[in-house]
Parts: sequence; C-alpha cells; structure tokens
Amino acid sequence: MSLYFRNFPIYRIEWVTSAFLIGTALASLTVVPWFLWTHWDVSLGWGFVWALFTFYYFATGFGITLGYHRLFSHLSFKAGWPVKLFTLLFGAASFENSALDWSADHRIHHKHVDEDEDPYDISKGFFYAHIGWLLFRLKPKPPVTNVKDLEADPLVMWQHRHVQTIAVIVGFVIPTLLGCAYGHLVTGTPGETALACFLIVGLLRTVVVQQGTFCINSLCHMIGRRPYSTRHSARDSGVVALLTFGEGYHNYHHEFQHDYRNGVKPWQYDPTKWIIWTLSKVGLADDLRTVPDTRILAAEVKERSKVLASDTDRLVARLDGRTRELKARTIEAVRAIADDLARRSEALKEAAAQKAEVGRETLDEVRALFREAAAHLDHLRGAENPAVA
Ligand SMILES: [Zn+2]
Ligand SMILES: [Zn+2]
Repeated sequence: MSLYFRNFPIYRIEWVTSAFLIGTALASLTVVPWFLWTHWDVSLGWGFVWALFTFYYFATGFGITLGYHRLFSHLSFKAGWPVKLFTLLFGAASFENSALDWSADHRIHHKHVDEDEDPYDISKGFFYAHIGWLLFRLKPKPPVTNVKDLEADPLVMWQHRHVQTIAVIVGFVIPTLLGCAYGHLVTGTPGETALACFLIVGLLRTVVVQQGTFCINSLCHMIGRRPYSTRHSARDSGVVALLTFGEGYHNYHHEFQHDYRNGVKPWQYDPTKWIIWTLSKVGLADDLRTVPDTRILAAEVKERSKVLASDTDRLVARLDGRTRELKARTIEAVRAIADDLARRSEALKEAAAQKAEVGRETLDEVRALFREAAAHLDHLRGAENPAVA
C-alpha cells in the first residue's frame, strides 16, 4: 500500500453520505442512460415522466434556494405555513439534510467565509467546497448553537426529526407511485412507467439538484465578478445563476445576506426572487427585506474606488521612469477619480442612513466616472506594453 493510502484519514470518511452521493451519481451516469437507451421507443408515457421531472426539479430546487436558504437560513422574508411546509417537504426530497442542519452550516459559512471554520471553505479547493466537505470531515462538527430561532418552529423541528423518511417518501416513493398509477390508467405499462419515474424523477433529479446546490459553494466562490466587495471570495455570475435558480449573484448575497434578492438588478436571472415576490402578492409571504438602492450604490462605488487605486498602483509600478513622467497627468487624473469615488461612497452611505433616494443625476455622474477611469486605465495599460499598443 502506498504511503498516501496509509496516511489517508479513513476514520474521517462519512460512509453513509459518501455511499449515497457517489452511488446516486454513478447510477445516474450508468443505469439511467441504459434505461433511456432500452426504453426510448416504449410508449410508457414519456411526456408524463418528463413533466413530473420538471415539476420535481423546480420544486426541490426552490425547496433549497427559497426555503432552506433565503427563508430559514437568512430570514429574508416571512412566510405562512403553506410555503414553509412545501419547502420543508421538497427541500427534504433534495437529500441535503434537514433545514435546521443546513441553516446551521450556512450561517457559519457566512460568518466565517474563507476561514478554517467555514464548513465549505473555498480556500481548501474546488473539490472540497463542492462535495469533499460532505464526504469526509476534517474535524468534528461544532455544537449547533446558531439556530435557536428555528428550533422554536414546530414545523422545522418536525422535518428535522423525520427528514430521512420524508426525503424517501416525497423524493422516491410518491413519483414512483404516480408513475405506476399513470401507467396503469393511461398507457397500460404500470411497471415500466413506475421504473422510469423512479430513475428519472427520483434518482436523476436528486443528483442534478444536488450538483446545482453544490455549485453555490464551489463555483459561486470562483467564477465571476466582485462588484460589491473583494473582502471575500464570493462572486457574481449570470451563468452560475442559471444552474442555481438565481443564486449565482453571490458577491451581492455575501455583502447583503438578508436581502431576499440575490440578483438585485432587474435584468438578472433570479427566479427564486420572482417567486418570493409573487408569493407576497398573493398573501403567502410578507416582510420582504431589501437593502436600499443608495446603500447598494455606496458599496459599488467604494469597491470601484478601491480597485481603481490598487490597479493604478500596480500599473504605475511597472512603468519605467520616462513613461511614468509622460503619463503623469493620466495617473493623477485616475487617482483623483478614485478619491472622488471614495468621497461619494461616504456621502451615499450618509444619504442611505437618512433614507434618501439616489437621484438619476447621481447615477449618471457615477457611471460617467466609472467610464472615464476605465479609459484612463486602458491608456496606462497601453503605455505599459507599447509594442502591443
Ligand atoms: Zn457563499
Ligand atoms: Zn447565504
């Protein structure tokens, strides 16, 4: 046996979780394609199977993003029992443990992001943040002390006590029975339709939704921009938002975790936000928490001024003495803009404290400054590399 395997911390492996995660993933890559290949031309009601898959994909996905994440972990809105019950049932069916355990881990993630205590710390690498933290525990789990509010909720505690049973019944038994009933009543293929639903709505859907959630902990801390803060690794990415029901605007989320929106701009893809908003319009949710536009803009402006100053320092350090002299006015101009933005960010913060709105003019001025600074930086970059310019 190699030294590597002798040193491998076998006692730290989470056997049941690992067997489940690896087993379902392997079965989705082997048994599911085999079934599709051998049954694609059998009239077992494929339209029904894929419709049920779609419903389950969104119901269990929103169970996590809308329920576990924005409602239970962050209390970003209030919801009546129908929304709580729905997200607890379908959240359980995504096989990501109870809302209570999930929220406890997630609150620690926000408090200690990128530090050793962060349960899915990205500084330990993509694999660890994505799934490794579930396969083996590097250290014993700390006692759960940060979810007292949820422990007082009888519905949350009921789900916590019976989560595995609920997961199996809602995630596998019900779709299989529905498939059996449909096959029996419509296509005359109860066995085959039941098996199709078990494999596609139960198994494949579980794996797809889990991988989507895992991407929030891995890709959302690796891919994209950081317009609101570079103090942590969380990033904004529209592409990742597509895979995660709108959770891809993670830089914003880490900066303003109690906002019910993750994609805060009107054009950003955040279906979880759209559903919460719709629920509030039909009386199923209220007290939607939002951060005022002025405060959001203050964060953006402050971050831009910081990045601008450090980019300029970096570029100027690389210029030779003569070029530095020639470009002195540009360097001065870009530094002045960085200072101006820093001042504006303070003024915006002040305005936010007094609940003032951001005027159109302020927005236009700030955007013009962003553009001007970018042009100056391009100019300096050209000077840094004259052969290319
Ligand atoms: Zn995060
Ligand atoms: Zn969060």
